[in-house]
Amino acid sequence: MKVAQALPWLQSQWQTLSQQLSSQRLGHAVLLTGQQGVGKRVFLKEFAQLVLCHQGEQQTPCGECASCRLFTAGNHPDFITVEPEETGKAIKIDQIRRVTDFVNTTASQGQRKVVLLGPAEVMNINASNALLKSLEEPSSQVTMLLYSHQPSRLLATIKSRCQQYSAPTPKFQDGLMWLQQNSQESGLDSLLRLAQGAPLKVIEMIEQDVHVQYMQFCQDMQDLANHSVVWQGVVSKWKNWSVEYLLDWFYGLLLDVQRCKSGVQDRLIPELNMQTELVSKRMSVAEADGILSAIYESKKAVVSGSNPNPTLLIERLLVDWLGQLRQS
Ligand SMILES: [Zn+2]
Repeated sequence: MKVAQALPWLQSQWQTLSQQLSSQRLGHAVLLTGQQGVGKRVFLKEFAQLVLCHQGEQQTPCGECASCRLFTAGNHPDFITVEPEETGKAIKIDQIRRVTDFVNTTASQGQRKVVLLGPAEVMNINASNALLKSLEEPSSQVTMLLYSHQPSRLLATIKSRCQQYSAPTPKFQDGLMWLQQNSQESGLDSLLRLAQGAPLKVIEMIEQDVHVQYMQFCQDMQDLANHSVVWQGVVSKWKNWSVEYLLDWFYGLLLDVQRCKSGVQDRLIPELNMQTELVSKRMSVAEADGILSAIYESKKAVVSGSNPNPTLLIERLLVDWLGQLRQS
């Protein structure tokens, strides 16, 4: 993928970074921040290829030199990726030690070595401190490319060692147009709304069948409202799904309640609008606020890999919602 053309909302960031590279003003460490699902990782991975490309002086990697061929084959010896071993887990100090070892060996293909690391906020404190050491003693050979969805959670000392860039979220219509060019799925607009406007998040949802689960979620909620199923059965089915998305959908429902109360027509989860309207008649703004912040905190904990017991929260959210619905 040629990022500069493929992700038009990141084009100016690409130009800036590639110009810095060709004029040899690129820092030892770059930090790209922005909402999850706007393409930071894809962007930096391709930029890593450009840094390593033997052709140099170009805006995009040539794709043909020995370095590019190794890179696209996924076995470039001068490139490593440091990410959580499992989604939702932390980046640990052992992984950063591998970075230190990598940094201390000589580049085998050329002059440069590149480390791609992220999401940087999931490094635990030991890992952060170990990385900081590498950043404080930069090697002229090594370029560190970091990305973060939540830069506020990074050590200030790490941030200050990096050249920082932000990756914007595209405008909704632009994001939707991009999706329509890249996917045949139906209902892309509601998926994009659920993904808070992040187009690559939608692609991930489709790849992981999350969009199918979403339709099932809406169906389950309707069946529950009609008393044709019991909540215990539904929750035990949901246990196999990504808790992150379930939290998102409840978050969407509660936001819809608030929108409904303030007379806004737009819905994040239009499929369940009848329920939202009923619940909004009973639930106070303060109650909705309280639940929203509980979901927000829980989501943060899940994303940062601190691994709480989110099933309990999902259960409570569902039972509360049904309680409100049935009293209406
Ligand atoms: Zn090349």
